[in-house]
Amino acid sequence: MGSFGIFNNGGYMIINLLALLLLFLSCFYTEKGSRIKLGIWLLLLAMITDFAAGWIESEAAIMYAQGSKYYTYMLYAELSLFLAEMLLLSVAASLILLNKIPSFMIIGGVAGFAVVCIVYFLFISQNGDAVFQMRYIFPMVGFIYLAASFWSKLTQRYASGYIFAAIIASSSAVFLLLRLIRLPWTTDDANIWYIPAIANILFALSIIAMRINFLNSKLDDSKQEIEKNNQRLQNIVKSSPFPIIISKLSDDKIIMANNNAIKLFGILPQEAERYRLKDFFVDIENRRLLTERLERERQVQDFEILVKTPTGDTPFWLLASANIIDYNNDVALYAAFQDITSRKNREMLLKNQAVRDPLTSLYNRRYFEEEVFNRILCAKTAHEDYSVLMIDADHFKRVNDTYGHKVGDKVLIELASTAEKALRENDIVARYGGEEFVIFLDKVNADKAKIVAERLRESMAAIVVYSDEGEEVRFTVSIGVSSSEVSDNVETLIKTADEALYRAKQTGRNRVEIFRPTDLQKFNDISAAERKMETQNHHPIFDKEDNQEISLLDGIPSNQIQETDVKIEDKSAGMMLPGVDTDDLR
Ligand code: GH3
Ligand code: MG
Ligand code: MG
Repeated sequence: MGSFGIFNNGGYMIINLLALLLLFLSCFYTEKGSRIKLGIWLLLLAMITDFAAGWIESEAAIMYAQGSKYYTYMLYAELSLFLAEMLLLSVAASLILLNKIPSFMIIGGVAGFAVVCIVYFLFISQNGDAVFQMRYIFPMVGFIYLAASFWSKLTQRYASGYIFAAIIASSSAVFLLLRLIRLPWTTDDANIWYIPAIANILFALSIIAMRINFLNSKLDDSKQEIEKNNQRLQNIVKSSPFPIIISKLSDDKIIMANNNAIKLFGILPQEAERYRLKDFFVDIENRRLLTERLERERQVQDFEILVKTPTGDTPFWLLASANIIDYNNDVALYAAFQDITSRKNREMLLKNQAVRDPLTSLYNRRYFEEEVFNRILCAKTAHEDYSVLMIDADHFKRVNDTYGHKVGDKVLIELASTAEKALRENDIVARYGGEEFVIFLDKVNADKAKIVAERLRESMAAIVVYSDEGEEVRFTVSIGVSSSEVSDNVETLIKTADEALYRAKQTGRNRVEIFRPTDLQKFNDISAAERKMETQNHHPIFDKEDNQEISLLDGIPSNQIQETDVKIEDKSAGMMLPGVDTDDLR
């Protein structure tokens, strides 16, 4: 375009080369893999060819001045390059316009015709005007094609880059036309050295603009795609028979909740987005655990959670399956729930049945022994004291015999609840056998345990139960205490507490006795056989073969019970008095 004027001055040449370099670099910026990218590279190649043709033209001019005979060949080379430029621009145009390379027949036909023209006018007819015209016609045709293909992109959503390129290509074609008709300003090669540089720079800029256009339209497409996906997800969530919630992973805020979830969590549809998923968790630790597992595995199946509604009704159990999903260019948590409260309740009931006594709801002996075993291990590592209390109702047979087993059961229930109310949460109260209770006191030594036991004894003695006839029924208990000072073995602790209880019974009942470490010697010395003899009819717990954990007597009329050793003679009293010894009643 600028032709040989560029080569008159080193500075001009450098500027033109830099412009070409800029065009070259901008070619890398076009979107990958498309035919347009190839078209743009061909445009670069065409501009390089133009530059080379200009150089040959300038060399030819020098040769002409020197009268070299090779001058004609130089012109031939120059025109061939202009022809190549035309073909490159045309193919580029075709790629940009139609996304395909025109058939080789067409390219070959045009090129062949043009070569014939060049040869004819250069070597045979030697028409200077024709040579001069071809120099401009070839690239001009190329630019017209190119401009047409860029203009064809006018209707695109983001077309500024193409329009810009179309204007430059059109201007280049017009400029070449002006040179062809020999407009004065355009005929002096030396004056227009900057034209190709400007064209190349502007082409580079338009390529960058095309890329920006492309990115914008891609962004639009992906926004549309996201919108479509969101809509699809919303439909799936809405029509799901399960409660589903989608929440943002970053701040846990609810993005979407279907009707089933809204009903389940007791919230208003318009309020859903005000809540965070963690608002429904009873145990925040549970929520943390779920997040941790999700971060590790990205999806969690059958995760049990205890949840509550914002109005704070009774908590209920849900089985959650959660996935991390992409939502609106953000990471979200997709969670589906299933209400498993009734299953959980059943499970808990069964678990309770295994560890609790049905009459008093206290723990049973098995649970007590297992739990105390663990507690002792902990206490030992922490060097802490503990005590075990064994409680036995005094003359309980009489209660049964006098008022019937129903009243006896009532007494047992009252004893159990009094013990539970009087103790701390960490203590363990269990029904050990018929009317015997055992208690583990955490961090309590023997002396303190005695105080606790005395307090218990007094509060139990104060219990009043009413018979069916409305008679007041009172009773007392005896308590034996053993502690960490005596043993760290559950069985020994229970046996020694029972030994102390036996002593309490023997020394008058309604009393507390402590088993001290000094008693161990004597306790160990008594042979099993002797002890059995000694304890005959009296030993509160270990003399009984059928020492059931739960009441076997519920609902059995008192007259069917084969326990006849104690009879209340003074029934007119209507009640048992605390602290009254058996002997007083006999
Ligand atoms: P002592 O002061 O020596 O303990 O006299 P006692 O009458 O309490 O004697 P013992 O502890 O040997 O008697 C236990 C009685 O408790 C025997 C049984 O009839 C009664 N019993 C055991 N389990 C139940 C129960 O679940 N319900 C009722 N109503 N009575 C029970
Ligand atoms: Mg008893
Ligand atoms: Mg007993």
